Amino acid sequence: MANEPVYNGSCFCGEVKFQVTGEPVAMGYCHCESCRHWSAGPVNAFTLWKPSALKVTHGAESIGTYNKTPQSFRKWCKTCGGHIFTEHPTMGLTDVYAAVIPDLDYKASVHVHYQETVLHIRDGAPKLKDVPKEMGGSGLSVAE
Ligand SMILES: [Zn+2]
Ligand SMILES: [Zn+2]
Repeated sequence: MANEPVYNGSCFCGEVKFQVTGEPVAMGYCHCESCRHWSAGPVNAFTLWKPSALKVTHGAESIGTYNKTPQSFRKWCKTCGGHIFTEHPTMGLTDVYAAVIPDLDYKASVHVHYQETVLHIRDGAPKLKDVPKEMGGSGLSVAE
């Protein structure tokens, strides 16, 4: 445990600071409409962690939360509006956006919700129609 890597992250203005420890459970791109609409970007580069791997070290009181559904509690900094992470309580995982932990060696192993894509990424990684079976999805693949 002592040798586990620690990755530092922050919001856009730096008020909210946090650390994730160890390695993510999964990394990939989400193409769903919800991620797109909330982030105002075409895809979301996610890294999923056990909630215990994430520790907010500064500015916890500046974190805003919005949950349109019980599946996703989306978090941002109330000062700058920068997105930081999203808790997925039903999955038991937290998505720390790859963009806010730049030191992590980000490698997408899967694309999820690809049936909703507006930006085709032909990187050879698997393209799932929705999400893996073990996460409650169909597990079906679709064309790049
Ligand atoms: Zn901020
Ligand atoms: Zn999504």
